[in-house]
Amino acid sequence: MDDRIACVYNSNHLIKPEKLVWHYVKCDDRRRLQHLFDICPYDSMHHVPKPEFDAHVQRCKPPTTEMKLNFGTDDPWG
Ligand SMILES: [Zn+2]
Ligand SMILES: [Zn+2]
Repeated sequence: MDDRIACVYNSNHLIKPEKLVWHYVKCDDRRRLQHLFDICPYDSMHHVPKPEFDAHVQRCKPPTTEMKLNFGTDDPWG
């Protein structure tokens, strides 16, 4: 019945999903906290705390864009 979802910047802000993008434009708590968040490249409605951002992007990434890039991080000679 009540389909409002919580603003990630203040869980007391309960917003209808279709209004959330406008809420984020004017949310005062966002202005205060936005340096702690990044916005998902796949969905601009996903405002994600920076420590969780990489994991979020991995989850959100469309499976079709998967590429095999094995250079770098797990190179045993690196
Ligand atoms: Zn808010
Ligand atoms: Zn996302």
